[in-house]
Amino acid sequence: MYAIDNYNFKGKTTIVRVDFNVPIDSAGVITDSTRIKAALPTINKILADGGAVVLMSHLGRPKGNPEAKYSLKPVAEYLQTLVKNRVNFIDDCIGEKVLTAKTKLNPGEILVLENLRFYKDEEAGNPTFARDLASGMDVYVNDAFGTAHRAHASTSVIADFFKSDKMFGYLMENELNAMDKVLHSAEKPSVAIIGGAKVSSKIEIMENLLSRVDALIIGGGMAYTFLKAQGKNVGKSLVEDDHIDTAKSILETAKSKGVQILLPVDSLNADEFKNEATTKITSTDDIPANMMGLDIGPKSIELFSNLIQKSKTILWNGPMGVFEMDNFAKGTIEIAKSIAKATSAGSYSLVGGGDSVAAVNKFNLSDKISYVSTGGGAMLEYMEGKVLPGVAAIRK
Ligand code: AMP
Repeated sequence: MYAIDNYNFKGKTTIVRVDFNVPIDSAGVITDSTRIKAALPTINKILADGGAVVLMSHLGRPKGNPEAKYSLKPVAEYLQTLVKNRVNFIDDCIGEKVLTAKTKLNPGEILVLENLRFYKDEEAGNPTFARDLASGMDVYVNDAFGTAHRAHASTSVIADFFKSDKMFGYLMENELNAMDKVLHSAEKPSVAIIGGAKVSSKIEIMENLLSRVDALIIGGGMAYTFLKAQGKNVGKSLVEDDHIDTAKSILETAKSKGVQILLPVDSLNADEFKNEATTKITSTDDIPANMMGLDIGPKSIELFSNLIQKSKTILWNGPMGVFEMDNFAKGTIEIAKSIAKATSAGSYSLVGGGDSVAAVNKFNLSDKISYVSTGGGAMLEYMEGKVLPGVAAIRK
C-alpha cells in the first residue's frame, strides 16, 4: 500500500473517488462548498506531480437514473474557479465516450465524471460497472471518507482492478489517522463524550470505547435512559424503555473494566418540547413528573468540564441537549468550549458525528479542535470497531 505523499503521479491518469455531495439550491447554486475545497490537497498533489485527474462522486439521491437536478456539472464549474488547471466535464461516468475522454486527458488536466448514482450499479457494487470506471486508469485514490462504510462500486469494488497502485487521498488519510490515534494510541487519560438523542444508535460505539478509554461521559437525551436504569424518575424525558437493560449492561461493563462513567447530576427541564417552554433546573434525582430534561444543568457542565480539562485525549460525538433551540444549547456550547480549552492546553481532540460537528461550527470553534471529522456514519462505524469496505479495499 502506498501513501499518497510518497507516490509520483507523473505521466499517470488517476481516478479519484471524492465526496462532492454538496448542497445545491433550486437555482443551481452550491450553498456549501466545504467538501469541494476539502478535496483540493489530493487533486493538487496529483496535478503538481504532472499527472491527470479523473474525479468521480455521487450527489444527492437519484433513483438510479439521470436527473438534471443531481448533475455534477455545477460542481465541475465551481471547481474551475478554484484551480488554474483546465476542468473538463462529461455527462456520463462509463462507456465509450467517457473512455475516449479519459484517454485524451493531458497531464495537468481534470475530468469530472457525471453522478455515479445515475446508475443503480454504483450502490449495488456491480463489478462490471466498477471495471468500466477503472478502465483506462493507472491509479485509484479514495478520498471520500463519508462513503467509506459502503461497499459501492466506486468506493470499494473498483480497488480490485488495481494491483498495487491504489491509496487513500489526504482527506481520508487524515480521518483514519485521527481515529486511529484515539482508538489505538491515545495519550492517557482519555475520555469519550457521547451524547445525542438515543442510546440505541450509540450502543456499539459505547461498547467498543469501553475497551479503549479511561472515562465515558454520557449526556444528551440518551442520558435519561441511563438515569432511569439507575432507578431515578426522569419525568417526561426521552427514554428508550426497551434499552434500560442495555444501559444497565453498559454501566456494569464499565465497572468491570474500571472505566469511569459520568452521567448528568442536574438537568435543565422544560414543560414542553419548545424553546419558549417554562423551565426548571433540578438535580437528576428530582426531575418533576410533568417535565422533560432538554439539557444538562450547570453542575453537570462543571463536573464534565473538570474531567475534560484533565484528559489528554478527547473524543466527542453527540450534543449534550437540544442545542438547536437556543434555550437548551448551553450544555453543548460549554462542553465544546471546554474541549477547545483543553486542546489549546495541549490535549488531542476529535469531534465527529453530524450534530456535534454542526455544534462546533455553529459556535465557531472548529479551528480550536485537533480534528473535526467529515464522515458521520463512516466515523461512527469505524469507532464501533467495524471494518469499513472502502478502507479494507485499499489496505488488503
Ligand atoms: P444523534 O443524532 O443521536 O446524535 O442525536 C442528536 C439529536 O439529539 C439532536 O437533534 C438533539 O436535539 C437531540 N437531543 C439532545 N439532547 C436531547 C434531549 N435531552 N431530549 C431530546 N432530544 C435531545
